[in-house]
Amino acid sequence: MTAPETGEIMAMAAGDGIDIEKVRLDTPGCASVAHLNNAGAALPPAPVLDAVTEHLRLEARTGGYEANDLARELTEGFYDAVAGLVGAHRDEIAYVENATRAWDMAFYAVPFAAGDRILTTTSEYASNAIAFHQVAKARGVSVEVLPDDGDGQLSLDALAAELARGRVRLVAINHVPTHNGLVNPAAEVGRLCRETGVLFLLDACQSVGQLAVDVGEIGCDMLSTTGRKFLRGPRGTGFLYVRRDLLRELEPPFLDLHSAVWTAPDRYEIRDDARRFETWERYVAGQIGLGVAAGYAAALGVRAIEERVTGLAARLREELAATPGVTVLDRGARRCGIVTFTVAGRESAEMKGVLRERGINVSVTDHTHQRLDPNAVPAAVRASAHYYNTDEELGLLVSAVRELAPRR
Ligand SMILES: *Cc1c(COP(=O)(O)O)cnc(C)c1O
Repeated sequence: MTAPETGEIMAMAAGDGIDIEKVRLDTPGCASVAHLNNAGAALPPAPVLDAVTEHLRLEARTGGYEANDLARELTEGFYDAVAGLVGAHRDEIAYVENATRAWDMAFYAVPFAAGDRILTTTSEYASNAIAFHQVAKARGVSVEVLPDDGDGQLSLDALAAELARGRVRLVAINHVPTHNGLVNPAAEVGRLCRETGVLFLLDACQSVGQLAVDVGEIGCDMLSTTGRKFLRGPRGTGFLYVRRDLLRELEPPFLDLHSAVWTAPDRYEIRDDARRFETWERYVAGQIGLGVAAGYAAALGVRAIEERVTGLAARLREELAATPGVTVLDRGARRCGIVTFTVAGRESAEMKGVLRERGINVSVTDHTHQRLDPNAVPAAVRASAHYYNTDEELGLLVSAVRELAPRR
C-alpha cells in the first residue's frame, strides 16, 4: 500500500494556479465526458480511484480484517487529511457514510427542550428540513425560516433580530444550497451565533472541495459534508466535524461498541472524541479514498480551487444569461460553481437528456425538494463546474443550449 505522491500533486499546483492539463490527465473521466455535474458527484482523480481499488484488492487477497490491520496508517491518515483540509483537529472528525447521516448524528444529538427554537434558511436541504419537523413534533420545538435579504441569501439582519428575541437552541443552515449558485454568509452567521452563545450547525455538503472552508474562520460548532461531490471522493462516504469542547455535551442518537466502551453489564462510556458519532463497521476503502481526496484538494490549494471554480461558473453564467430564452436563476451576493437555469419552451429533464446524448453531464433540480424556497421553480438545469473543466467544455454546453433555446 503506497500513499499518493503528494509531490506529484503539488506539481499540478505549480505557479499561481492549477495546471489544468495535468489535473485532467490525472482524471480518467475527462477523456470521455464534459462533466458538469460536480454538485451531484464529481469525477474522482486517479489517486483516489487507485487507493480505493487497491484496498478492495487487498481485502480480497488477505481478508477484510487483515487488510484493515495492514492499512492502519491510511485509515488513521484519513483523520489528519480531512482535519487539515477544514482547519480542524483530527479528534474533531468522524467518518460517516454520507452527509445526511453526518448531519443527523449532530442534529439529533442536540438536547432540545420544549419551547426551543431552530432557525434555518429558505434554501435548506430537504432531508434537513424533514428532520427539523420530526424533532419539532416530538419535542415541542419550533422551526423558523429566516427570510432572504435583497441579494437572495440568508438575511443577517433577520438572524440578528431573531437571536435577540432569545430561546434559539440551534441555527442550522447550508453554506451552499443544492439547487442554486448562491453562497450563504456562513462566517457572519458564525460570528452572530458566537456572540449569542447559540449552536451553529453548517451543512457544507456543496462547499467543501469547491470553496475554502475553515471551521475556525466560519465559527461553526458542527459541519457535515459528503465525499462524492466537490471533494472528488468515493460515493458512500462523508464526514462530520464537531468542535472539541462541545463533544461531551452532544450525546449521539445511536451508540455501538466503537462509539462507546461497555464497561460493566449495565454500563458504558462514550468516547470523548468525534468518533463517538461513528459506527464500527464501515467502508474502509472509502475512508482511505476520502482521506486521499482531502489530501489531493489541500495539495492543489483550496484558494486556487475556489478561484478557478468560481471563475468558470461566472463565465458560464454570463454566456447563458446572454442567450435568448435562457433564464439564469442563481441568487446571492456571492456565487459559486453551481449554475442553475431554465430554457423557455424546454423541460429541464429533456435538456438533461439531450445534453447527455452529446456527452455533457448536468442534473435537474426539483421544487419538491425545496418547499421552503419561495423562489424555487418547478425544475431547473443545474450545471456545476469543477477546476478540471475547461472553457471548451463550457462552450459545448452553451452552444447546445443555444441550439435548443427558442429563436426570436
Ligand atoms: C447532497 C446534499 C446533502 C446530502 O448529502 P448526501 O451525501 O447525499 O447525504 C446535504 N445537503 C446539501 C446542501 C446537499 O447538496
